[in-house]
Amino acid sequence: MKTTSRFAPSPTGLLHLGHAYSAALAAEAARFLVRIEDLDPGRSRGEFVGAIGADLAWLGLDPAEAPLVQSARGAVYEAALEQLRGQGLAYPCFCTRADIAAALSAPHGAGAHYPGTCRGLADDPGRRAVAAHSWRLDAARAVARVGLPGWREHDGTAHTATRADLDDVILARKDAPAAYHLACVVDDAASGVTLVTRGADLRSSTPVQRLLQMLLDLPEPAYRHHPLVTHADGRRLAKRDQAPTLAAMRAAGVDGRALVGALREDRLPLGFALSSA
Ligand code: GLU
Repeated sequence: MKTTSRFAPSPTGLLHLGHAYSAALAAEAARFLVRIEDLDPGRSRGEFVGAIGADLAWLGLDPAEAPLVQSARGAVYEAALEQLRGQGLAYPCFCTRADIAAALSAPHGAGAHYPGTCRGLADDPGRRAVAAHSWRLDAARAVARVGLPGWREHDGTAHTATRADLDDVILARKDAPAAYHLACVVDDAASGVTLVTRGADLRSSTPVQRLLQMLLDLPEPAYRHHPLVTHADGRRLAKRDQAPTLAAMRAAGVDGRALVGALREDRLPLGFALSSA
């Protein structure tokens, strides 16, 4: 089967060298796709969508199809959420960020996980009609249904998640029809993605995404969690850094195609390095 991979940037800023590395590796697949992850209405900007297209053209990385744009796919995500709700695996959550922070700082807080405040509340459609709420995955029930998920890296290694890797993640936000994990698995399946290429900083997303794939009966892709591009001193690249944006490199006359060739051999421009997060 033809390997299909994708580059799935969020248009919340200009792309930098780390994105170029990720896109260069994803585009090694026989079929390369691009997806615009613009579900965050507060942070996504049309101008950055345009910049992504210009950057990819400069790098010579042409997707096989027109990019899939998540903000246009609300109905598809709602259908997936409905499927999880129908299995009793999603519950409404009325917590604010402040509520969650307060519960987590309590002496017996759940660490980095959602403290479970709204899990197990009797469903109250009247309250839902008037109060802003998100939808969360009931991870414990999900694991009871399908077991702990595992995944394969493209180097052939097999991994199994532990219960601690799985949280009651948000499936649909108060202000958007889907959140990252749900939209990601629905779209990877819809696009026939067989290899998920992304940075090692997103490895912690893989267990819950595999769990969602099992619950929604979606095919299992392989994963390539690649090292991250950092400054030579090990500092992470930040969106506020001007220097390594692709737009700045393009303006400075850097050859985008040559850059892709170098990145695929793990040769980084001066001042940058790779680090396995
Ligand atoms: N949109 C995510 C990001 O820009 C990437 C998601 C993914 O590759 O799964 O960090």
